[in-house]
Amino acid sequence: MAVSKHPRPLAPYAQDPERSGGRRRHEPAPTWRSEFQRDRDRIIHCSAFRRLEYKTQVFVNHEGDLFRTRLTHTLEVCQIARTIARALDLNEDLTEAITLAHDLGHTPFGHAGQDALNTCMRNYGGFEHNLQSLRVVDELEQRYAGFDGLNLTFETREGILKHCSANNARELGELGRRFLERTQPSLEAQLANLADELAYNSHDVDDGLRAGMISVEQLEELGLMGRLFGQVRAAHPHLPHRRMVYEAVRHMIGDQVADVIRTASASLESAAPPDDAAVRQHPEPLIRFSEAMQAEHIELKRFLFRALYRHHRVYRMAEKAKRTVTALFQALLDDIALMPPQQHLRTEALQEAHGELGRARGVADYIAGMTDRYAIDEHERLFNPRRLT
Ligand code: MG
Repeated sequence: MAVSKHPRPLAPYAQDPERSGGRRRHEPAPTWRSEFQRDRDRIIHCSAFRRLEYKTQVFVNHEGDLFRTRLTHTLEVCQIARTIARALDLNEDLTEAITLAHDLGHTPFGHAGQDALNTCMRNYGGFEHNLQSLRVVDELEQRYAGFDGLNLTFETREGILKHCSANNARELGELGRRFLERTQPSLEAQLANLADELAYNSHDVDDGLRAGMISVEQLEELGLMGRLFGQVRAAHPHLPHRRMVYEAVRHMIGDQVADVIRTASASLESAAPPDDAAVRQHPEPLIRFSEAMQAEHIELKRFLFRALYRHHRVYRMAEKAKRTVTALFQALLDDIALMPPQQHLRTEALQEAHGELGRARGVADYIAGMTDRYAIDEHERLFNPRRLT
């Protein structure tokens, strides 16, 4: 029985799984799935993916049941990216795999946790969540008999690694090359990156309004949201507040998605890359917003930074999160025997191989893998003398 692995023909510049750059360890081709479908399935089955449910996006997990978590953020990014991928005849399976994996390396407590861990690691090579996502899929997941990590394809790993310093790029060989040579990644990777930004801007508006930290009046002063609220009000003058917000956020995603599809279609038509190699050599990314939408997107991003991410309540929680992560790091680095036996052994092995750098990396891996509540609990267990276990 012939099984179609692709529901529709891919564009010549899409990533073809039959011509993949391959896995770090050779494996026989999957029977029923494409190589990228296999990557996606491995990501969904890994422990780091399940932990996303209890990791902060902006609001700490226990602040409310309706706010986005890393998991729901990831699913929103994935759906947005798949829609665009399908419209542009790009590889939807690869797009799905990259987006589902893109935040696997995030620390507990969102950006506050990442900043704190980066500060703790400043003398040991730093901490960057993109690189950590790659570390999760390359090394940290331990579930297969034949290899550490998930042994994903080059294309999925390339998409996960959005940014990278020159120093780190040099250590990553083929995967790091584009950061040194300043070439582009695949269109699917470019798309995953843009969909991430599009998704968090949109859902942070929704979550910020729900939390009462930003207001419709503030948003109406901005280009994109002002226009959308105006349109919703004109079409539905008596809509209850919450529904008006949903309607505006819905159009916000829809308008931006349509803008990316229109803009990218036009760029792809005029650049006409004959294959994915030409995409990589193109002087700039081909998946992007129009200039007008880009300006509105940046305006909104700046507003959210000022009004939401620096809001008193978010800021106070973030500072508390930083103290928690920093205290955990210091205590565990001083005495790695405080870690659970499995992490302790791993860190000892890392220390044997790489000295102090390895020891610190083992501690950072352990902390980065924690969910918000696990980190809070572990902090209690380590510092509250009334807690015996
Ligand atoms: Mg993200």
